[in-house]
Amino acid sequence: MNAKVWLIGAGPGDPELLTLKAVRALREADVVLIDDLVNPEVLEHCPAARVIGVGKRGGCRSTPQAFIQRLMLRYARQGRCVARLKGGDPCIFGRGGEEAAWLQAHGIEAELVNGITAGLAGATQCGISLTLRGVSRGVTLVTAHTQDDSPLNWQALAQSGTTLVVYMGVSKLVEIQQGLLEGGLPAQTPIAMIENASLPKQREQRCTLAQLTDAANRFRLNSPAILVIGEVAAHDAAALIQLSA
Ligand code: SAH
Repeated sequence: MNAKVWLIGAGPGDPELLTLKAVRALREADVVLIDDLVNPEVLEHCPAARVIGVGKRGGCRSTPQAFIQRLMLRYARQGRCVARLKGGDPCIFGRGGEEAAWLQAHGIEAELVNGITAGLAGATQCGISLTLRGVSRGVTLVTAHTQDDSPLNWQALAQSGTTLVVYMGVSKLVEIQQGLLEGGLPAQTPIAMIENASLPKQREQRCTLAQLTDAANRFRLNSPAILVIGEVAAHDAAALIQLSA
């Protein structure tokens, strides 16, 4: 087996949402580096591999990025096949592109494997269609948490006319609510908050933009969670099926 690093999206949590390609890469792996948003149940596909936890949750004990990169390099240079498992998709707020470029610059073959990103899975699990004919003609995936804490262009987001899916927003709810209201998004805009999407402990709560911070407090919204903001959050798939029947 040639030395190689697979940068794999493990999906939002439900192990059945793993792709067949991810399963194949896991079967080939000698060493698996696993992020803490990844459901450890997916490790059933690599029973013989050495598994190393490299979690990096905001505010918690974390493994420095440079250390993780050096680990990947060290094992790959030993001729091992390395699988780096990330939550969701590796290239949606997952640094997959950066890591692939870094590995290639160090002479290591890297291959990215898509995973189902939390925003898509969360909406679907709650019966929400992110695009909907006559309601929403696009989706914007956005993180509320920027590396340098620079403000988002809330006005542009509010006026985009697309469904907004906000990642990493739990500690930024006041800013999200104020920014979107000031940016011109109507106070009655529906929102779905979805915590632990696709896992047995998934929880969801609907509210309006005006109610966002109060509703999240009452619901005790916790990370990991996404927000789906837009008219589609007031429609659910079951109702749509009846409509078209
Ligand atoms: N690469 C990941 C995102 C990593 S950023 C992906 O594509 O999904 C981490 C953020 O993703 C969390 O703060 C949360 O906003 C979101 N997230 C990840 N897993 C989630 C889950 N199971 N349910 C809800 N949100 C989740």
